[in-house]
Amino acid sequence: MFTRTKMAALGAVAVLALAACGSDDGEVADVEPGEFPEGSTMAALADAGEITIGTKFDQPLFGLVAPDGTPEGFDVEIGRIIAAELGIPEDGIEWTETVSANREQFVEDGTVDIVVATYTINDERKERISFAGPYYNAGQALMTLADNDEIQGPDDLAGKRVCSVEGSTPAANIEENYPDAQLELFASYTDCLEPLRNGQVDVVTTDNVILAGYVAEDDAFQVVGEPFTEEPYGIGLARDDTEFRMWINDLLEEAFDDGRWLDAWNETAGTVLPEPEVPMVDRYEVE
Ligand code: GLU
Repeated sequence: MFTRTKMAALGAVAVLALAACGSDDGEVADVEPGEFPEGSTMAALADAGEITIGTKFDQPLFGLVAPDGTPEGFDVEIGRIIAAELGIPEDGIEWTETVSANREQFVEDGTVDIVVATYTINDERKERISFAGPYYNAGQALMTLADNDEIQGPDDLAGKRVCSVEGSTPAANIEENYPDAQLELFASYTDCLEPLRNGQVDVVTTDNVILAGYVAEDDAFQVVGEPFTEEPYGIGLARDDTEFRMWINDLLEEAFDDGRWLDAWNETAGTVLPEPEVPMVDRYEVE
């Protein structure tokens, strides 16, 4: 795990590359002083001109660090939309790698301001943090070697070596509902790829869209069967910060309406995956 401060850590060449690949819809809002309520997280971030965003660094289509050090993907674009609306320019965004198991902790201890990282909204996680969104609905699926026709769905997992990631909902689902599977857990999904290639594990499980990213990069793999859970992706933030959560929820709805969300999709995951339905933002109450 490591963090990267963009711009600060990168040389001038990379800075130019970043500017060149900043999306054309990524216009940074002109934020007037006093635009956000005094004392709000929005005001604090806008005043600082900086935001730290936790995302995945090894998941193609959603959050992947490119060779030039720039993270790219749909989650990254969602993070950029939030930063831009706060008037924070690209060089004010610090991208921090989060893995599945450290996301709640990183929000709780302030390592990051928000997490946008294929992060399923669920009640257990809501005990520790809050979620804006969802901004996408994924589902758990299975990935095998392309020449394997033995495994078609979760009911075929008994006795199979199943690779997944600590602290993830797909791993928890296998543990609870498919106890005859031999679950092997790593820190991130790329740790499962070599073992799958070598035959040390039979199957990798996580969300369909994460697996689709690995298949797009390597046709030795295939996604099998239909998704068998619902994984609504939310933006993780501090649990008591309802004002910030509702502000992000409003922004997401605007972005659904004005094309920013779909542009972000089309530039990233949409190069491989079909256009999603517009999600319904969940404005739940915190007890
Ligand atoms: N969406 C699932 C989760 O939040 C799986 C993907 C991931 O581990 O990031 O646990």
